[in-house]
Amino acid sequence: MHSRSHTADPVQLGIYVHIPFCQHKCFYCDFNSGPVSQAARRSYLRALEQEIVNSPWRGTPVKTLFLGGGTPSELTRAELEHLMTTLKEVFVFSDTLEQTIECNPGTLNPALAAAFRDSGLNRISLGIQSFHNHHLQTLGRIHSADQAREAYRLARNAGFDNINLDLIFGLPNQSLEEWKADLYEAIGLSPEHLSLYNLTIEPGTEFGHRQARGEMQEIDEDLSADMYEMAMDITADAGYEQYEISNYCRPDRQCAHNRIYWHNEPYLGFGVSAASFMGGIRSTNTASLAEYGRTAPRGQTRRATEERLEGRAALGEEIMLRIRTREGISLKALSWRYQCDVAALFSDSVNLLLQRQLIEKKEDRIRLTRQGKLLANQVCLQFL
Ligand code: SF4
Repeated sequence: MHSRSHTADPVQLGIYVHIPFCQHKCFYCDFNSGPVSQAARRSYLRALEQEIVNSPWRGTPVKTLFLGGGTPSELTRAELEHLMTTLKEVFVFSDTLEQTIECNPGTLNPALAAAFRDSGLNRISLGIQSFHNHHLQTLGRIHSADQAREAYRLARNAGFDNINLDLIFGLPNQSLEEWKADLYEAIGLSPEHLSLYNLTIEPGTEFGHRQARGEMQEIDEDLSADMYEMAMDITADAGYEQYEISNYCRPDRQCAHNRIYWHNEPYLGFGVSAASFMGGIRSTNTASLAEYGRTAPRGQTRRATEERLEGRAALGEEIMLRIRTREGISLKALSWRYQCDVAALFSDSVNLLLQRQLIEKKEDRIRLTRQGKLLANQVCLQFL
């Protein structure tokens, strides 16, 4: 089995840039982020610039840009402009490119929102998480519900016509009624896109430590499932398409950058811990700020992990990514890309999942049923 998946089309990149600064570490967060000194911040931005400038992919057209973190909205206007100028000098940007910035509502003000727009950013993702102050405090967020509402207004006033709101459900002591109120409030603002995530408690986070000490309430899986189903129903009634397990949008407002990940297309990540997928090789930059600061200026960013995905492993990975999407998987298209009979290879798994009504099949296409979305991890395991 060999893959034709990365040779047929001219390369167009998704670019991800990681800004690891945050004023305060949220209790559930396992991203590489946190408070840093001014000196560390300056040296990080210098190293980041050098990593971009030294990229072997210089001159490649860019399909999408995503500034994530951490808190990219912690950047000053000058820092943001410098970063955007560097990116545009090194890569080929078109005018219509989707350019997203993640923003912590506690950091936004009118001048900053205007600076985002002036830099060419045309999509903003607001980390709202909840419209209830007691839940925001439980999560360790720096913002209040009113700041979340204000951030949305500021983004609209600055001219953003493509706004995503991130919300989390399954929070400690969160009731179904509170989640319903969050959903209605979010939809009432009329964003183009919603990302609705189930809280997971990761080892190494504050919540993870509390759980290990027996200080966290057990997650009520049934209640979380009810919340997820409620999210699917309320967003559908309001005209949002669920185009991926956790993502909902107005028609034609899918996040082009996320689609690159789910469709296994090439992307480059810059910054500490940033992941790349180029030429069939998946790699991740070092997670150490100190090491990144030492190696990136010399054009030698150490890859903490580097793996060439081939054969069955590559196919399994692609299925796991694509099965999350509304369009699901065309077995014929995958067979062509991987030069093998995918339907025959996974016939036992597909039959089992059809029997359990976790997937449905139309012609050669399989996709998750409603029940399958609730048990997506179990579905994915069948293809590993
Ligand atoms: S603001 Fe985001 S990246 Fe920063 S600590 Fe909180 S969840 Fe993590």
